[in-house]
Amino acid sequence: MTTPYCFDVIIVGGSYSGLSAAMALGRSLRKVLIIDSGQPCNRQTPYSHNFITQDGVPPAEIAEKAKAQVLQYDSIQFTEDRVVSGHNVEDNFFITTSSGKEYQAKKLIFATGVKDLMPNIKGFAECWGISVIHCPYCHGYEFKHKKTAIMAPSEHGYHLASLVHNLTDHLTLLTSGKNDYSIEQVEALAHNSIQIIEIPVDEIQHKDGHIERVIFIDGSSIKLDALYAGIPFKQHCDVPITLGCELDEMGYLNVDQFQKTTVKGIYACGDSTTRLRSVATAVNSGLVAGAMVNKELAEEQFPISVI
Ligand SMILES: Cc1cc2nc3c(=O)[nH]c(=O)nc-3n(C[C@H](O)[C@H](O)[C@H](O)COP(=O)(O)OP(=O)(O)OC[C@H]3O[C@@H](n4cnc5c(N)ncnc54)[C@H](O)[C@@H]3O)c2cc1C
Repeated sequence: MTTPYCFDVIIVGGSYSGLSAAMALGRSLRKVLIIDSGQPCNRQTPYSHNFITQDGVPPAEIAEKAKAQVLQYDSIQFTEDRVVSGHNVEDNFFITTSSGKEYQAKKLIFATGVKDLMPNIKGFAECWGISVIHCPYCHGYEFKHKKTAIMAPSEHGYHLASLVHNLTDHLTLLTSGKNDYSIEQVEALAHNSIQIIEIPVDEIQHKDGHIERVIFIDGSSIKLDALYAGIPFKQHCDVPITLGCELDEMGYLNVDQFQKTTVKGIYACGDSTTRLRSVATAVNSGLVAGAMVNKELAEEQFPISVI
């Protein structure tokens, strides 16, 4: 096999964080390849909110605009493909894709996001991002004063209740089993007129993703407009893990304040690295990763003067 062309940087993941990293690198004349499999986590959401200048814009439109701007920089290439493995030989990384291509780079940035793991509840996946929502800052305003429930593990559910209570008085907590709140927490919930329902959810009835009713396993039901759900996730791409990058105790890629992973030459940004999940945060951490990779390359390549 012939040695592949060597990029300065391969960015795996070409959504908000990956494109942001690419822009910083393109503006520094770095030769960059972005490899993206086209599955951003918010793809089912009709409108994205809470990112200044892009409030209420469809998620794909934000990404398309970003991609068009990034690809104006000549040194950046974009390919649709899925990275399946990677290895390094000394200071060079080799990346293989599902279409059988191999690429080489001096540095890697993983901007691969996370995969939300849908519970086995009929109707849940269809409503995800439309009326089953993950974050009050992203979609809470659109459901203000509406009939709302929260389905999340105890502490997270309690935390969400305190935030969402500010947006609506019609709030119910669904614990899907015996709740383990302290006496003080139960009192605080009751004081704020937040009912707790412990019966597990069986089904979400909806119309085109818009919730109408939640049905419990005993056949009882409540009418709802919105459901906040705290669900588990896994890394969308496990290649950084196979390359030796460590995860933190919550399952995020362990990065320092400069988005550097625990493996030399590999950076990561966006949702795969933080629970502060938003387009704005992803763009910010992508920018930091791009700038820091450029800095590392610059320091390595800066000629030492010979006297
Ligand atoms: C339902 C929902 C609604 C949301 N709504 C909002 C909102 O209104 N406002 C807001 O600010 N935030 C919102 N968010 C959060 C926001 O979408 C994320 O924070 C943001 O998308 C993270 O960007 P990212 O680039 O890190 O990851 P993603 O956008 O998830 O992109 C990761 C990219 O990497 C690619 N990829 C993964 N693995 C591979 C691989 N092996 N090879 C090649 N490519 C790969 C994927 O295909 C994808 O394109 C929402 C999230 C969800 C789940």
